[in-house]
Amino acid sequence: MTKYDQMKAIRDELLVFTRSPLFEYRTANKYFPVVGEGSHDAAIMFVGEAPGLNEAKTGRPFCGAAGKFLTELIESIGLKREQVYITNVVKDRPPENRDPTPEEIALYSPFLDRQVRIIKPKVIVTLGRHSMGYVMKRYDLDFEIEPISKIHGKSFQTVFFNENNEPQQLTIVTLYHPASALYNGGMRDTHMKDFEILKKFI
Ligand code: URA
Repeated sequence: MTKYDQMKAIRDELLVFTRSPLFEYRTANKYFPVVGEGSHDAAIMFVGEAPGLNEAKTGRPFCGAAGKFLTELIESIGLKREQVYITNVVKDRPPENRDPTPEEIALYSPFLDRQVRIIKPKVIVTLGRHSMGYVMKRYDLDFEIEPISKIHGKSFQTVFFNENNEPQQLTIVTLYHPASALYNGGMRDTHMKDFEILKKFI
């Protein structure tokens, strides 16, 4: 199966993901699941938390105000949005933009794991603490987890066994969620500075 077909299979499964507690809310509101977008050969993969209203209405990740700032950050290091891959841990919008529950994270995260196996990024950039928590634990970096205020802008090396049971290197970069700059303008500079760590992976 091509990467495109594998990604499409994920979308098809999400469309009928009736096991999810978010399924009824999505269909009642005519929302879309948000699979992700960008290059299937990206070296850098961004992982947010869950879609918001704009994302659920369009089926595209990070397409609202936080997404506009994320695009600006990506461009600030000389990349285009199409050159990276952008997705979330949870693929459906939680009501009222509440945080995803641990059950929702457990239910949707296997889709993210599959996306990582398809894209094989060199770097996974976590956006916000839920994404950080899931990704760090998934790739055996539990012992490095600290409050995001302490480890934002840092990188962590890990090795995991891929689907062929071969060891694969992966770097995890933990960043603040871009929405944090929308409530606190002073955070913009912190984001810009933290993003520079990604330059070495381009
Ligand atoms: N916030 C997220 O975590 N993900 C999106 O796709 C949009 C906003």
